[in-house]
Amino acid sequence: MLNVSHLTRSYGSFVAVDDVSFSINKGEILGLLGHNGAGKTTMMKMISGYLEANAGDVLLDGMSITDNAKAIQRELGYLPENLPVYPEMTVAEYLDYAADLKGLSDLVKVDEIKRAIKATDLAAKLLAPIHTLSRGYKQRVGVAQAILGQPKLLILDEPTNGLDPEQTQHMRRLIKEISKNATVILSTHIMQEVDALCDRVIILKAGKIALDEKLETLKHSKNIVLETDYQL
Ligand code: ATP
Repeated sequence: MLNVSHLTRSYGSFVAVDDVSFSINKGEILGLLGHNGAGKTTMMKMISGYLEANAGDVLLDGMSITDNAKAIQRELGYLPENLPVYPEMTVAEYLDYAADLKGLSDLVKVDEIKRAIKATDLAAKLLAPIHTLSRGYKQRVGVAQAILGQPKLLILDEPTNGLDPEQTQHMRRLIKEISKNATVILSTHIMQEVDALCDRVIILKAGKIALDEKLETLKHSKNIVLETDYQL
């Protein structure tokens, strides 16, 4: 359902993502791993249409993300590393704003917001200004805005980063639940998380794919790269 081909992005003369190609099948949960600076965020931003590529393309069900940014926005949900929100907004105000940004019609907006609140267990926090929330709840708000409109592809940038153990478990259960109806790309540093959630793993190294394997295959091959680099 997603085809990434020859995706490339530089910052000045530094190549952050270097001619990367891969495909994802419908329903897969793909774990995107790599050290700090490997290019994960840059790649996720390009796939989400938030950052322009210097070369290459991303096709979602055959439709180019670069050429159809507006139409594709509803098919995609993106949880960035840090939610770009107005901290004074309440959760309810922010979700309303996010639904408008996604172009949801008034007809579906209310139901979609209700559904997202229920899925993320945010009912008790609706009137809380976002700056008063813990990191765990902020991440739930991030997921809630990402699933508005029931996108077919969800891109989650280190969703459990900085969360306490309880919030981490909640987030992992949430991702598992969401993945029943969507294809997911998930970046993380945590192998345990990959093990619990992912079907397949891509490791980025210096902007290139160093490994692309099904999790089952990896588990059986006791891959050295994974063990030394990511301390399984
Ligand atoms: P992390 O796990 O730390 O989030 P990452 O794998 O997501 O890392 P990116 O954030 O994509 O990596 O960064 C890839 C490289 O590009 C890094 O060396 C980073 O310093 C550089 N980079 C990212 N954004 C910019 C920018 N706006 N301007 C200049 N360099 C950038």
